[in-house]
Amino acid sequence: MATNPESPLDLLWKEYSLVFREFDDLTLARWLAQTLGQLEGKAWRLSHPLLGAYRLAAQMGHERQIWFKRLATPPAAYAESPCCRAPLLPLLTRDVKDAGLICQHCSDTLVPFDEFPDGIKAGLETWAGQYAPVHAVAHWDDRQRKSAGDYDRAYENAAREAEGLLARAGSELAPKLLEFYPAIVWEDQDECLEVRPEDVLL
Ligand SMILES: [Zn+2]
Repeated sequence: MATNPESPLDLLWKEYSLVFREFDDLTLARWLAQTLGQLEGKAWRLSHPLLGAYRLAAQMGHERQIWFKRLATPPAAYAESPCCRAPLLPLLTRDVKDAGLICQHCSDTLVPFDEFPDGIKAGLETWAGQYAPVHAVAHWDDRQRKSAGDYDRAYENAAREAEGLLARAGSELAPKLLEFYPAIVWEDQDECLEVRPEDVLL
């Protein structure tokens, strides 16, 4: 999802979210708890429609402090998040080294990088280290673009590399994280390099 609140995409998601505004607190809490049951045990693309719906409902639930009200019990596998006390549902992004894993309910850092289990820390660090210079191609300044000669080609190459790296996040890193978390979401796009979810093949 885009981060600019005025972007057409954000306005569209806002429109989508209206359906959950009509839910009363109890209905929303039950819907969230039941859907968590369906998300459990799997690694999910951020672009998956079920996940998209869950995120909208989760944001609404966060606004209404639904998890503080204890109206429905989430599946036992989900521990309470330290950030907002919602059930633990982390998102893996390319910014994992700086931002850690992101909470799908309050969008804060859920697990800082320093607190990652040893079994996955090195693998994530390597991956993020490979991704950073690839992503940076999208943000090169004029001088860097000129020195590359054919910038369009450099950009295209970076996009192809990002596709491969994102596929690795989905096929290797996210399943590994499932050993530690009840469910995991991974970002399957790179908007700056124009890599779309359908470009990332598992
Ligand atoms: Zn949170």
